[in-house]
Formats: sequence, structure tokens, C-alpha cells
Amino acid sequence: MARVYNFSPGPATLPEEVLKEAQTQLADYKGSGMSILESSHRGKEYSAVHEEARSNIAELLNLTEDYAVLFMSGGASTQFALAPMNLMGEGGRADYVDSGSWSTKAIKEARKIGEVHLAADVKDASPARMPKPEELTLDPGAAYLHLTSNETIAGTQWKTFPDTGEVPIVADMSSDICSRTFDVNPFGLIYAGAQKNLGPAGVTIVVIRRDLAERAAGHLPTLFQYRTFVEKDSLANTPPVFPIYIVSLVTRWLLDKGGIAGIEQQNRDKAAKLYAAIDGSDFYRGTAAADSRSDMNVTFRLAEEELEKTFIEEAARQGMKGLKGHRSVGGVRASIYNAFPVEGVDALVDFMKEFEKKNG
Ligand code: PMP
Repeated sequence: MARVYNFSPGPATLPEEVLKEAQTQLADYKGSGMSILESSHRGKEYSAVHEEARSNIAELLNLTEDYAVLFMSGGASTQFALAPMNLMGEGGRADYVDSGSWSTKAIKEARKIGEVHLAADVKDASPARMPKPEELTLDPGAAYLHLTSNETIAGTQWKTFPDTGEVPIVADMSSDICSRTFDVNPFGLIYAGAQKNLGPAGVTIVVIRRDLAERAAGHLPTLFQYRTFVEKDSLANTPPVFPIYIVSLVTRWLLDKGGIAGIEQQNRDKAAKLYAAIDGSDFYRGTAAADSRSDMNVTFRLAEEELEKTFIEEAARQGMKGLKGHRSVGGVRASIYNAFPVEGVDALVDFMKEFEKKNG
């Protein structure tokens, strides 16, 4: 069976090696006579998987003991609420950057919990972009500053994170976690659904500074408190064992490739090839401002927008799937996370040239 080039924004393509390994181990996990899907989450087989996934993420992100790695459920969307519930404090307020659809959603949830101050609002900017540091108005009394490191729909990405002094940054890194190196120290909380860069849907990766996990009011439901996950090592209840197992394999695959430093240059090169193809022709037009372009989600339009449907259909016929832009914005989007192969990017660039020749 031939695998297609899957440009889907998430759930997204996984390393083929990882899928094959999971397949080999599926019915009988390491001679235990049962699948990891059937194993107790407190048994020795799963405990080793859980610990490997946790320590691989800590190693990839170069975390000190000040941070805990948690495995939660409910996707990044649940974190939109849990972050303010745990961190805003009674009568507190937080700074938020509105940079597009995903931050807007995070803001909507935070407003249900407490006071939100907009540190910057570029959600309607055209071309789409992230704010410049000098555009931010930061409230020194804010409990934290929330930002979306990569806007999956708009195709924009923070290139340098803002200096917030003592105020911790809370980041939705759903679509670029572990895709590039960065200094974790200014961050108090990082969350991401696994289904783009780290594994399948069903587990949310949360990295929290341990002292911040203590901020939550004790009256919050037990499983809504980060504290519980820190204290019980994400085993207060049954964790999503299979997604975490796949995360352990994907993170091992990443470490084998030299960790984030190893994959970062490849990610940049993949994106640069596509942006060069877009910029090199009037037939295509990038939708994000050059200084905010995402290395993960490359968004573009065709000069003749009526041709986009044909472009996407024809690409799919040639084994390049998932290129349709988000329904809220249309256009074309190539999502090229860590596991997306370089050859797939080359194939798309060739296809773009051919398509232009035929239709330009
Ligand atoms: N934030 C960002 C940046 C996303 O890309 C997505 C999903 N595409 C979400 C949040 C929502 O994640 P989930 O479906 O895991 O709740």
C-alpha cells in the first residue's frame, strides 16, 4: 500500500517507522502476552511507556526540575479554560494576545473565568501577522501573558517571544511544539494537543512550572487542577494510554534524529522551499506577512481563486492530500510538521510549477 503525502493540519502525518513499530507491538507488547491497549495503567509495561514519554519530552525541551510534564485529556481547547481557572487567581487578570482564530477562542474561554486585557490585537491584520514586541501593552499586574505560538489557520508564527519580565508566558504551542529550539525560562505553562507534532489525538501535552501549579484554588474540581496531575504524575485517573504510547515512540524518533536542534533546520528548509515557490511566481500569493510566516502551516492563494478547487483536487489525485485551507479562510494550506517528509515538499513544489504551466 502506497502512503500519500498527508498535508493535513491535524491529526497529521506520523513517522512511518513509528506506525510500523506500533503495528508490530500491537497484539503482544514485548512478550507480555497482551496489547499495551489492554495493559493496566499501573502495570510495569505501561509504567515504563509513561515514564519514557515524560522524560523524552523533558529532554527534548531541555527542562529543568522546575518544570513538570503532564499528560491530560480534552485537547488544547480544554486548556483554554483550565489555564485561567488555575492561574488567574481570585479577582485576577491576565494579558492575552489576539493573533487569530485560536487565540480568539482562548480569550473567549478566559473571559468566562476572569478579566482579560488585550495586550495586542492583530487578528484582523491583512496580511496575517504576529504583533511586533513594541506593539504590546503589558500589564505588570497580569497573572500571565497568553499567546498562541503558531496560528494554524492563518499560517503565522511568533519568531521571537516577547520579554514579559516577571510575568510568566502561557503558550498554546499546539501546532509548533518541539519543532524549533527556544528558551523555556520565560514560560510558566505550555500546552499542546499531541496530534500535530508529537503523536495522535487524545492526549494533551502540558508543561508547567511547578510553583504555578500551586496557584489553583483548592475548591476547583480535583481533575481540573494542574496540581493533581503534578502530584500524581498524570495517573490520578486512567490516562489515554495508547496516545501516550505513540507519543513515547514519536519522541524517541525525534531524539534519534538529534532532538529539536536536529529537526529545526529541516523544518526551516522545508518551509523555505515552499515560500520560494510561492514568491517566485505571480500565480501564487502567500497570505502571511513575510516576518511572521509559519514554518509549520504554509498558507497561500492562487491569483485566480476559482482555480483553487481544481488545484486541491488535482494534487489529491497525485497523492498529495489535505491541502484545503481551513473552511473559515479558504485557500490552500500545506501543513508540514516534524514528521512530514522533505520529498513531499519537493513533490508539491514540482506540482505547483506544473499546475502553473498548465493553467497560468
Ligand atoms: N490551538 C491551536 C493552535 C490549534 O491548531 C488547535 C487545533 N487545530 C487547537 C488549539 C485546538 O486543539 P484541540 O482540537 O486539541 O482542542
